[in-house]
Amino acid sequence: MTAGDRDPGSGASPDGLPPLREVIGAFGLKAKKSLGQNFILDLNLTRRIARAAGSLAGRTVVEVGPGPGGLTRALLLEGAARVIAVERDERTRGALEMIAQRYPGKLEVHFGDALEADWPRLVGPARGQAVIIANLPYGVATLLLTGWLDSEPWPPWFERMVLMFQKEVAERIVAHPGSKAYGRLSVLAQWRTAARMVLNVPREAFTPPPKVTSAVVEFIPHREPSPPCTPQALARVTAAAFGQRRKMLRVSLKQLVGAPEQLLEAAGIAGNLRAEDVAVKDFARLALVYERSALRRV
Ligand code: SAM
Repeated sequence: MTAGDRDPGSGASPDGLPPLREVIGAFGLKAKKSLGQNFILDLNLTRRIARAAGSLAGRTVVEVGPGPGGLTRALLLEGAARVIAVERDERTRGALEMIAQRYPGKLEVHFGDALEADWPRLVGPARGQAVIIANLPYGVATLLLTGWLDSEPWPPWFERMVLMFQKEVAERIVAHPGSKAYGRLSVLAQWRTAARMVLNVPREAFTPPPKVTSAVVEFIPHREPSPPCTPQALARVTAAAFGQRRKMLRVSLKQLVGAPEQLLEAAGIAGNLRAEDVAVKDFARLALVYERSALRRV
């Protein structure tokens, strides 16, 4: 066997900890589908994902779903000063404790649902500078993302995010107007962040392999998203517009307001456009006008 065809996850690890395949066996971590468990055992790959966030030296990293700890170990090997991980599966406690012992004072694991985490409190003094790096559980990936994108105040408690999604979701996040993938998620993500796809990850890189290819997306928050609408107004406007994406805006927005033409005119957007042809900044302007008109009606 050559180094090239060695089973990833079974070779000697540079951190001196047992290979991940052994860890999974020793702690009985058979992957659970209900928790979206597809583990990456190749430390070279998890280190590449970690490095996609730039230098981690001295940084505080937030990870959702460390599982047996493949990405966690990569984050620590790449020099993270502190990793705060939230994991739902209590079975991983032993494997994660072993990593915490190898890196005293650097790994904090909270067991619970990441959807309910109070991130600014967990991050504490690193607020504004933390980096989120995660191979997300696919079942809750978009909910976690939209939660982070809705953070208040903005700029948020994180300085950047590097997140793995199903490729189809990643494509929707970074899509531009005029494409089939362009939708609500593209607008919500691109209004507040610069989002770009940084890495494709084939199915075979995971144990067990999922049905589809995955991709890593990097998000860098804009300091002042423009125009400055609220995320709630943008969410409502895009839900109405993309809810009937084949219809013209002057029709689809009737769900939202009695007279969409007035709203569209005030935002300087032609009523005969379809949602998929409207740029992110135009949606944000529409949301701003909508928000102001809604306030006037109260
Ligand atoms: N980080 C590991 C890796 O890259 O090999 C595991 C990633 S696996 C795709 C997703 C992980 O998220 C699993 O460990 C799973 O138990 C955990 N998870 C699933 N739902 C969760 C939730 N709501 N909150 C926190 N962790 C969750």
